[in-house]
Amino acid sequence: MSDPNSPGPEELQRRLQAFLQSAFQQQGRPAAAEPAGATEEPAGADENIFDFKLTPRDIKAHLDRFVIKQDEAKKVLSIAVCDHYNHARFLRDRADRGETAPVEYAKQNVIITGPTGVGKTYLVRHIADLIGVPFVKADATKFSETGYVGGDVEDLVRELVQKADGDIARAEHGIVYIDEIDKIATSGNMIGRDVSGRGVQTTLLKLMEETEVALRNPMDLAGQMQAVMEIQRGGKPGRQSVNTRSILFIVSGAFPRLKEIVEKRHKQAQIGFAAPSGQDTERAWQHEVTTPDLIEYGMEAEFVGRLPVRVACEELTASDLRKILSESEGSVLRQYERAFLAFGIEAVFDDAALDRIAELAAEEGTGARGLLTVCERLLREFKFELPGSGVTSLRVDMDLIERPADRLNQLRASGEGERARVLRRSAEEFIDRLGQSQGLDLKLSPAALDLLVEMAVARHTPVRELCAELFRDYEFGLRLVKPPATEGSLILPREAVEAPDKFLSDLVVRAYRTSSSDEPTTGPAS
Ligand code: ADP
Repeated sequence: MSDPNSPGPEELQRRLQAFLQSAFQQQGRPAAAEPAGATEEPAGADENIFDFKLTPRDIKAHLDRFVIKQDEAKKVLSIAVCDHYNHARFLRDRADRGETAPVEYAKQNVIITGPTGVGKTYLVRHIADLIGVPFVKADATKFSETGYVGGDVEDLVRELVQKADGDIARAEHGIVYIDEIDKIATSGNMIGRDVSGRGVQTTLLKLMEETEVALRNPMDLAGQMQAVMEIQRGGKPGRQSVNTRSILFIVSGAFPRLKEIVEKRHKQAQIGFAAPSGQDTERAWQHEVTTPDLIEYGMEAEFVGRLPVRVACEELTASDLRKILSESEGSVLRQYERAFLAFGIEAVFDDAALDRIAELAAEEGTGARGLLTVCERLLREFKFELPGSGVTSLRVDMDLIERPADRLNQLRASGEGERARVLRRSAEEFIDRLGQSQGLDLKLSPAALDLLVEMAVARHTPVRELCAELFRDYEFGLRLVKPPATEGSLILPREAVEAPDKFLSDLVVRAYRTSSSDEPTTGPAS
């Protein structure tokens, strides 16, 4: 029975927080403390960000190496990123000069629309890599599904600190990428979700503007306790919060109903789409998305207002996928080639096979992700069967795509043949060396070789080891059957492998007899 006078969990939590707060304040510090691994901002650690000297053209050139198509997105992102980091440098320079007056600046947060698997994340990840800033990605749906909305959104910023190895200044210039933003749209009939969607949009809004995020989640009581203990132990307090002013936010989503909305607006205004040159009308609508369209979709006006940079990523056709395979430095083919090469197998893809893989991937409807799905399905068995089979090369051609099982059987057979050849060579070398050590031309008969290889495979023993075991007494024994008894050469028959000791002793006895009958009968009568 619970005591009606005892405090409930919420009250307990409140009291504990009040206690923690006072504990910190006694020491003249704010309530939140840095997470494990966070360090005080090291001087100069963020130098690389302020050294930022790239031009939009440089960034696009880097992206071109990996990302096929999406030229518009590459340009728009390159410009936004340059503006963002140039502004960060500008602020830093002013601060260095001691100027503190506020500066007008509209943050270049970006919204990318476009279907799944067309390179949205890939673009942002490569930009973050190029400029060397921490990058975190999350799906907006994750936030609406949890009860505690605000805390989770702020966790993204804390994650940036982790990615920056605790370097807060670097985290403050990182990139936060949130996908599936269309899933937190508020229109529609699902009331519960709407409420939560609006909540997430509001919290994100704050982050995208400027706010201070505590380094420790206020709900993480264990973490708070640990911080107090660290400080009591005399630990050095670092900065307690992260400012989000210079964090670049990029959000994206497929916005499946957006086309309808844009089309409806156009119909009402009775104007057609004016496709930019070189683009078909089917995709022209993507470039005509306006703020009211996004608001009608269910995005909060304020939220959309914080995303001034908009760009659409386009669907990838089979021919784009084909280009990704052969031209992108990040092509999944490289991954497969490396995976096979790790087992000594050289994989070669011919052009017709690549065309077919691209067509099959396009049918998947998941953008470039389809390439991985198709390759995995096509090559899974080969990846399992070929390593260690003796096969050293794999040609991926139309025949393999159409009849994978037949090809696998052929390869298995040729692999066994190849493996047997390697084993035979190894047995012959052993016997050859054994003979040489006795000045003897020693060989194995074909039947003896077959049996040795068979035994080695059946016992999973290396041939060399098997020979060493079977013929362990031969080095000594063969000394007794040296020329002239052998006339300098000896072929070991199958029986020598079946019963090596018996064969050796018979040999020694025979050699002894031969040599004794050859001896001049000079001694006393035998
Ligand atoms: P999304 O648009 O859903 O964010 P991703 O960027 O995560 O898709 O794409 C998944 C993978 O597909 C990437 O890691 C990359 O290997 C490949 N990919 C996608 N689009 C392209 C593209 N345009 N050029 C080259 N590779 C791409």
